[in-house]
Amino acid sequence: MAWFRSLIHLSNLKSAAKSRNSIISPSFTALSHFNTGAGAAATGSPSPVPRSSEWSGLGPTKPEEKPRVVVLGSGWAGCRLMKGLDTSVYDVVCVSPRNHMVFTPLLASTCVGTLEFRSVAEPIGRIQPAISSAPGSYFFLANCTALDPVKHVVHCETVTDGESNIDQWKFEVSYDKLVIALGAEASTFGIHGVGENAIFLREVHHAVEIRRKLLLNLMLSDSPGISEYEKRRLLHCVVVGGGPTGVEFSGELSDFIMRDVRQTYGHVKDYIHVTLIEANEILSSFDVRLRRYATSQLTKSGVRLVRGVVRDVESQKIILNDGTEVPYGLLVWSTGVGPSSFVRSLEVPKSPGGRIGIDEWLRVPSVQDVFAIGDCSGFLESTGKPVLPALAQVAERQGKYLASLLNSIGKAGGGHANCTKDIEFGGPFVYKHLGSMATVGSYKALVDLRQGKEGKGLSLAGFISWFIWRSAYLTRVISWRNRFYVAINWLTTFVFGRDISRI
Ligand SMILES: Cc1cc2nc3c(=O)[nH]c(=O)nc-3n(C[C@H](O)[C@H](O)[C@H](O)COP(=O)(O)OP(=O)(O)OC[C@H]3O[C@@H](n4cnc5c(N)ncnc54)[C@H](O)[C@@H]3O)c2cc1C
Repeated sequence: MAWFRSLIHLSNLKSAAKSRNSIISPSFTALSHFNTGAGAAATGSPSPVPRSSEWSGLGPTKPEEKPRVVVLGSGWAGCRLMKGLDTSVYDVVCVSPRNHMVFTPLLASTCVGTLEFRSVAEPIGRIQPAISSAPGSYFFLANCTALDPVKHVVHCETVTDGESNIDQWKFEVSYDKLVIALGAEASTFGIHGVGENAIFLREVHHAVEIRRKLLLNLMLSDSPGISEYEKRRLLHCVVVGGGPTGVEFSGELSDFIMRDVRQTYGHVKDYIHVTLIEANEILSSFDVRLRRYATSQLTKSGVRLVRGVVRDVESQKIILNDGTEVPYGLLVWSTGVGPSSFVRSLEVPKSPGGRIGIDEWLRVPSVQDVFAIGDCSGFLESTGKPVLPALAQVAERQGKYLASLLNSIGKAGGGHANCTKDIEFGGPFVYKHLGSMATVGSYKALVDLRQGKEGKGLSLAGFISWFIWRSAYLTRVISWRNRFYVAINWLTTFVFGRDISRI
């Protein structure tokens, strides 16, 4: 991908000298961008954003100032957009509960220590350096909680990670252009107990949790006094969902078991097992030949494939629709994604499936100056286009397209709020699928280059595909720094095995 290659030129992360807390500091009220409720009242200047005394934030931009693009979310779509925005035209403000982008295709590898966590996390300041240095550009560690499209304001609440000595606070950010790139949430289909007992695999902290739990179970099962049943339960790793993420994670686990557990946990090596539960066929979006290959490869590596539908999840066992009880020590849930509660709460027209409805230019047509990209958005039925799959390649291409669209709007003088009426938008967004890849463990992978489920194209499986998979992702990792980390992690794992310390 051209943009991945161009990202290697990113300059070093500059010091994030701007204090994020400054927005509530009265000493900053003199800055044109920052208004506190108190400050606005004191200066007598009208504050277009209504605030209670404890509310503050970034007020609207003035006509002589750069227009402001507010980006909600720091995933594939939001980061690609920020990378492409021309910061001589716009100020960029990103609101997200995490200050980095996750390189999700390699996340499963971090759960068992094939890769380290930091190798797949790219700080936003390295993706768009203006965010840490330009006077009107900021990153705010916060969740967006509400949207007021009439006033062009987003309401936010800081993220404090449950720290008891920090109170959360709310603030508002005015936008000229708003890009919603909030991603999606793991689907649980309303099955009881999933949220409480299963671990999802979407964020780096999920991978940390999985690795710690896996190592804890391994160590406890080797301790004196444990019953045979409990030992088997603790060492039973169950993965629900046979899509690419579930399959890749199962493959990584089986590699970990076959190489590292056998060497390091010799006493319990015969007790540890992986079960992959899928309601239909695994990897249903892949070519049928590749699906068969994946099934036989996983089975050879010791992964038990079970066709079933989960009815209930309890703390130590799951219950399938046919009444079968499956005790587990580690449960990873990976059954696809759906719209987040925030997206569901937005009062805008939705696409089939409940995502934010967009037109061919990625605009949310019912509201001015609002765009939506990535997993949270889908074409409206009226466009006649299908909702695109929840994939990084869709999200990053939409981010790239929208950056270029916004740059041309800004250069044509339409950057400020409510100014795009007479601007020519150019060609619509067109998506061409480049193919899919997935690893299945044991140095084997699948590469499906068909342009769609029914389309024609090359499909490969085996070691060569694994080599293509690794090379492709190594070149797509965002920065040189992380590319270096990934290469070194792979080499270290190959030579010395995975790191099994539970930190
Ligand atoms: C383990 C895994 C492996 C994957 N592998 C592949 C692959 O190999 N190939 C592929 O094409 N796709 C893959 N995907 C899918 C791909 O990662 C997603 O399609 C992609 O991340 C979507 O990008 P996005 O920007 O829309 O959402 P995300 O990347 O999910 O980003 C959403 C952002 O919004 C933020 N956010 C959420 N709520 C709020 C809020 N209220 N306020 C502010 N910010 C908020 C989040 O913190 C996050 O920063 C994988 C996904 C996973 C989980």
